[in-house]
Amino acid sequence: MIRVENYIGGKHVSLQETLDDISPLDSAIIATIPRTRNVDDAVQCAIDSQKEWGSLSIDQRADWLDRIADVLQKNIEDIAKLESMDTGKPYEVARNVDAERSVNNFRFFADFGRGMTDETFEMKDAMNYVIRKPIGVVGLISPWNLPLYLLTWKIAPALLMGNSIIAKPSEITPLTAHHFSKLLDEIDFPKGVVNIVHGYGPEVGQAIVEHPDIKAISFTGGTMTGRIVASTAAPMFKKLSLELGGKNSTIVLDDADFESAVPGVARSGFLNSGQICLCGSRILIHESIYDKFVPLLLEEVSNMDIGPVISEEHRTKVLSYIELAKQEGGQILLGGKIIDKPGAWIEPTVIAGLPTNSRTSTEEIFGPVVTLHSFSSDDEAIEIANSTEYGLAGSVWSKKRGRQIAERIESGMVWVNTWLHRDLRVPFGGVKNSGVGREGGMWSLGFFSEAINICVMEP
Ligand code: NDP
Repeated sequence: MIRVENYIGGKHVSLQETLDDISPLDSAIIATIPRTRNVDDAVQCAIDSQKEWGSLSIDQRADWLDRIADVLQKNIEDIAKLESMDTGKPYEVARNVDAERSVNNFRFFADFGRGMTDETFEMKDAMNYVIRKPIGVVGLISPWNLPLYLLTWKIAPALLMGNSIIAKPSEITPLTAHHFSKLLDEIDFPKGVVNIVHGYGPEVGQAIVEHPDIKAISFTGGTMTGRIVASTAAPMFKKLSLELGGKNSTIVLDDADFESAVPGVARSGFLNSGQICLCGSRILIHESIYDKFVPLLLEEVSNMDIGPVISEEHRTKVLSYIELAKQEGGQILLGGKIIDKPGAWIEPTVIAGLPTNSRTSTEEIFGPVVTLHSFSSDDEAIEIANSTEYGLAGSVWSKKRGRQIAERIESGMVWVNTWLHRDLRVPFGGVKNSGVGREGGMWSLGFFSEAINICVMEP
């Protein structure tokens, strides 16, 4: 049994009141975590340490990021094991997606920081230059689906720009964040700059969002929670970045290359048991290839190695959508049932025959469930793709017309003939109810700094 502790001012601190961490693989209790309600101590430590950290040069901070990347790389197998145990995802996914990306987040921002160029704007009679100051103490809140991957995607740029941090991982998946804090100790990372607190979102998460000395909140999670976070933080004029939910369309055109489209569409629907905000869970297939494409897709999905969903509670939600789909007239082509063993297992599920405006095909399920729809023209495909409240991501599979379709989809990111192919320099984020702001490269550094313009005229 692992005892997860808060990490405050460089010390591991336990609390009397704890919560259980349950593995979705077999429903065993694998850890206890502190039920934190108050972040005053952590904020004070962050304030005390920020001045010195913020006074380092960007190159010195980039060197620290590299040291963190090194120690994560050295421990990459342990991280993958913990992530797999906590989330239930297959070890290979935890190793090649989660752990790998956690290392890359630090490596990438270290290099990116060193490569930053001056921002200057010449006028006829004066010149402007921009300096980027740290914001101060920032709050980072992340979900359970890609635990260390998403948390470090925020920690790395926040540190690079000279901020100190109060981070809160999801209480459902605290293990890798806890391990991360131990690795910071191992490399003698400056104390108090990174503080990690554990507990329930509405308690410790809310305390972070409400704290007057935390000047910016970077939040990744559901749209409903994002609304609560925004309603608390916005009147306090905090900087706010919201990466929220999605219901992404995958569009398979009549000229799609089946060899890449079949595995690509299956992967985009079911990787991480469909629990990635970018997953393509509404699959739109041109009517002329529908009958040929669907059996190949079903076979591909049947052969995938898919873990359980995150918890039995979440499985109940996913199952309720499968029941709803039946009431809405859907036919279950694959799966649809619980896998009868301990843990939160459920069959990967493919549903056809639903109206495109049904609840099942427009609400975020966040599980291994996709709906299939056919369309007869490019215009119709785009209309269906744009007909949800969300606008996070999407993909188009076509030999010739991918780009022209992609540009008409109302979402922050669209892939053509690929999915989840990530360049960390590019903007990442959603439109409509999928969020506010962008992460990635300069967008992250812009968020985690105050841009100050100095205009100089020679006397
Ligand atoms: P939640 O919104 O339930 O939780 C996200 C985080 O917010 C958790 O750490 C949670 O804590 C915390 N939280 C909950 N309530 C509050 C509150 N009142 N104040 C502050 N923090 C709070 O999302 P899930 O964890 O269920 O994650 C799934 C969702 O995340 C999906 O909708 C998915 O689409 C979205 N997501 C979006 C991504 C993007 O980049 N756009 C990427 C990945 C996921 P706790 O869990 O401890 O309650």
